[in-house]
Formats: sequence, C-alpha cells, structure tokens
Amino acid sequence: MKELSYKRTSIFKTADEAEKQKIFAYAEGYKNFIDSAKTEREAVSYIVREAEAKGYLPFAFGEKLKAGDKRYLNNRNKSVILFRVGSADVGEDGVRIVASHIDAPRIDLKQNPLYEKDGIAFFKTHYYGGIKKYQWTAFPLALHGVIFLADGTKKEVAIGEDPSDPVFYISDLLPHLSAKQNTKTLAEAIEGETLNLWVGQMPSKDEEDNAVSYAVLQILNEKYGICEEDFLCAELSAVPAVKARDVGFDRALVGAYGHDDRVCAYPSLTALLDNEDGVHTVFAVFADKEEIGSEGVSGMQCEAFIDLINEVAASFGVSAAKVRSRSKCLSADVTVAYDPNFADVYEKNNASLLSCGAGVNKYTGARGKSGSNDAGAEYLQELRALFAKEGVVWQMSELGKVDAGGGGTVAKFIAKYNIDTVDIGVPVISMHSPFEVISKADLYSLERAFAAFIKG
Ligand code: MN
Ligand code: MN
Repeated sequence: MKELSYKRTSIFKTADEAEKQKIFAYAEGYKNFIDSAKTEREAVSYIVREAEAKGYLPFAFGEKLKAGDKRYLNNRNKSVILFRVGSADVGEDGVRIVASHIDAPRIDLKQNPLYEKDGIAFFKTHYYGGIKKYQWTAFPLALHGVIFLADGTKKEVAIGEDPSDPVFYISDLLPHLSAKQNTKTLAEAIEGETLNLWVGQMPSKDEEDNAVSYAVLQILNEKYGICEEDFLCAELSAVPAVKARDVGFDRALVGAYGHDDRVCAYPSLTALLDNEDGVHTVFAVFADKEEIGSEGVSGMQCEAFIDLINEVAASFGVSAAKVRSRSKCLSADVTVAYDPNFADVYEKNNASLLSCGAGVNKYTGARGKSGSNDAGAEYLQELRALFAKEGVVWQMSELGKVDAGGGGTVAKFIAKYNIDTVDIGVPVISMHSPFEVISKADLYSLERAFAAFIKG
C-alpha cells in the first residue's frame, strides 16, 4: 500500500554497499574536474576535451545535421553547448536541455591593476558575483586567466595551484586592533576597494619611485614577456588556492571552491557522454556569467543557444517554434542546503536536506516569488513520474524562508522560449564562499536524474 505520509531519508541510510561505492567513486571524478576547472575558461577546455574524446566535433553555423551527429559550440572559450542529434523526429519530440553555468564568484583584477603603497605592491580588484567580502581575506588565492601581449600572443596563466607556486593574498585587520571594525556590519567591515591583492614586497634596485611594483613588472616580463599595458585587455581572476577535500570522518561531504555551479555542470557532462543510446536530441548548455545576471555574449541570455535549436529544426525542415514547444529543460543549478547552525533562515519542511537527493526548486525569486521561473504542476508531475520509474532520489527545495532572501538562475531565460523548465541541483552549504560544501550522495543523485531525463 502506498505510504500516506511523505518523508525524506538520507541516501546513505538506504544505499547498500555497492551503491555507496558508486557514490564515492563518482565523487572522485568530480573532485578531479573541479580542481582543474576553476574558471569558466578552464571548464570549457575540460568539457571540450572530454566531448572530443567521445566523438563530438565543432559545429559550424549553416551545417546540415542528421541523426547521430554529435557537435559542440565553443562560445569564445567562455561557454560551450554540447548537443547530440537523436533518432526521434525532432518536430514531434523536441529537444532535452540540461543547462548549468560554469562561472563562479571570485575576485577579478581591474584593467589597471598594479599599484604600490608604502612599500607593498598590490593588484586592484573588482569582485565578480555575490560574495561576502570578509570571507575572501586572509586566505590563499591563485591567479587564473588570460593575458595578451601587444603582438597578440595569448598567455594562459594559473599561478598558485602547484605547491611550489607562490599564492596571493588579501589582508584583514588583527583582532587586537579591530575594536572599530568590529562595530561595523559584516557587509561594511571589508569594503570593495580594500580587496587589494598582495603581489610583491621586494624593491627593484633599478628604480627609485615605485621600486616594488617595478620589481613585480620585471618578474612578469622575465617569466611571461608581459608589459604593464598588457593588463588593459587581460582577464585575470583570483580564486581560492585550495583543492577539493573530503569533509568529516565519514567522508560523506566534499569541500571545494566553485561547487556553484560546477557540481551541476559535471553530472550534466557525464550523463550526456555516458548515455549514448538515447533516441532524443539532447543539449547540454554550460553557460557563463550566471553570477552577474546571465548577460553578455557568453551568458544564457545570448541567442546562440536558440540559434542552435533553429539550426537543428532547419536541418530537418521542421518549424523551430514547434521544436521549442515540444522541448523541455532542466535548469541545473545548485540550491541551498539546510544548515542547523543557521536554522532561522530556513523553513525546514521545504528546505533541501543534505544527502536526501537532488533539490528541485519549483521557484526561486524573492518577496512573493518575484523574478522567478515557477515551473508548472504538469511538468513537475512528468518529472516525478520519470524519477520514480528510474529510481532517482530527489526532494523539493526552497531558497530559504519567505522574504528571507532569494536568488536567480538561468531557468527563466530558457522558459521564455516556450520551453518547460525547472531548476534542479545539488544542495550547497556556505554557497559563494571560498570553500563550499556538498554531499556526495546528492551529487550522485543529480547525475542519476540527468541520465533519466536524457534517456526518458
Ligand atoms: Mn548557480
Ligand atoms: Mn551562484
């Protein structure tokens, strides 16, 4: 008989030993991914490399597609869309879309970063995404990104990852002298213009004024051929110089920088690449710029994604509007996990519980669901039936108490094209901090959900 009451149980309670081993093994692959994809550019490189190994080829607009084709669109090395054309009639069946984002909050360098004050050389920064600034001080940071020399030579850098590399640093005040700082709110205690990266302290013997910053330029020129003007066009980010680590004696959890949203990007990649037998046409979108509103040419609001659906429709001589109307999407983004230390911001019955499965957000938004996608009951029921059939463990999730806050994802930018869309993702503790935490069981259940969606 069907249970009258609904309750959630930890996957670690119900999983047998073989299942637990799968969960743990899957997390090892993920840890490897997240350590090598600390920026959207590095994520694109990883994804393209894996896709090419599985026979995916670059897509050229205007190309006529046929069933079985596997293509990727590398959008300016900042976002990438993988797609596989299925055997089903795309005009009737539509396309299945899993859309995650591969950018994460971090500290970007300004375009004129280098300056010196009182014998210390610094890089000026402008933070990217919603961070609690105080969390990024007194913490080792690595420098990742690209820089062009005047002659067009492109240099890719990742300094601070190898144990022999130096790291970079944003200072905070010692408690002994923090009496005044302690009276400020957390939001005000560290100001944006004080997030200055320590990059040098040794003066050059060749220069009198600004001898320390000059010495930094000498090192950069020697090692990379860089001149100061090259920073004008560079894209450099300071990210936590930490590796993914198991958390807790039982190793149930993984701590890392940038789970949001690479913990959803990774299972959408593996679910696509490991399930080749599907009849459906499947898209895996890895978007950039979600953390700053999905704007820009590599963000989800760029029409490249819809252009690709149009290209698929055109290849088969079917109406693109009809394809879209038959399509469905999982907006793959993290949700918040219930944290007993901060219980008052959650309404526990509707919050994701760690290790109880992938979290589905019917809506996100704030103050009366404002700005939210709010998926329909019919689509949710369709997914519920699919997940039940495939044994996917999932739970409903809400981004905190009513009026406590809220957030956005790429969901609404896909739904606006007449495509059923709902948010689903891994619940996260300490989201947007330099070291976020997730459950291995939830990661695995999200991969199961994507695999079911792609095949189903
Ligand atoms: Mn996100
Ligand atoms: Mn985020």
